[in-house]
Amino acid sequence: MSKQQTKPIARPAIEGGLSPDRLSLNTATVRPQWSLQQCVDGCLRHGFGGIAPWRDKVQEVGVANAARIIRESGLRVSGLCRGGWYTAQGALTLSVIDDNRRAIDEAVAIGADCLVMVVGGLAEGSKDIAGAREIVTEGLARTLDYARTVDMAVAIEPLHPMYAADRACVNTVKQALDICDQLGTGIGVAIDVYHVWWDPALLPQLKRAGKERILAFHLCDWLLPTRDLLTDRGMMGDGVIDLRGLRVAVEAEGFDGLNEVEIFSEQNWWRRDADDVMRVIADRGRSCC
Ligand code: ZN
Repeated sequence: MSKQQTKPIARPAIEGGLSPDRLSLNTATVRPQWSLQQCVDGCLRHGFGGIAPWRDKVQEVGVANAARIIRESGLRVSGLCRGGWYTAQGALTLSVIDDNRRAIDEAVAIGADCLVMVVGGLAEGSKDIAGAREIVTEGLARTLDYARTVDMAVAIEPLHPMYAADRACVNTVKQALDICDQLGTGIGVAIDVYHVWWDPALLPQLKRAGKERILAFHLCDWLLPTRDLLTDRGMMGDGVIDLRGLRVAVEAEGFDGLNEVEIFSEQNWWRRDADDVMRVIADRGRSCC
């Protein structure tokens, strides 16, 4: 473990940081430590404003139970993670379309602000990324047709290009917004700082997106060095992303949702006491975001 991540870093609080009631806990942040019920209780204990469950946590207790647990808590649900994976079977199949339909139903059941879509990368053995992108656009169109009938927003999460092969072939906000423009209303973007912070076109694309298309905002940090492509995200303030600047930029467009904290961290935060993790998140929300 590097010093950078184990040492608490003392920072003066910057005026205007995020209080916990403006934060949402993405359950992936404490995935190995807490069940959905524990996540909900932890959010209440630490004064968080909301939660964003992954489907595995919802399905562990069943959708109806999950919906009840969350409803009784009064927490806002900043999103359900995740739908998508349209390219998983090489072509758009009924089973993939059905699974996304179920994901929309789950998002409705738990009262989520949106269903977050990780759209899928290349099909196994394929080198046809243009073809993958066509499949994805078609799949999103099919999901959106259904989502509109139940009034659930669909949020495309552009993923960092390092995931283009295995997770998502939509890799920039511009690319996601082009798809949104093609498909019309009811669809927008989930802005995850980890995936988009590097993009020279980010700020103009956030302007282009505006309030209508910015459906979610995800926080963590980019560590130097990054030791694993997937599970070495940093706690806010431990990396190189201008978190305050990006948060202000989405708010300038009118985004008024919660700031969702989503940290995959195999070697650090997943190994800590989850209440300690929550305390650090609350602290960094105030001082770094
Ligand atoms: Zn995210």
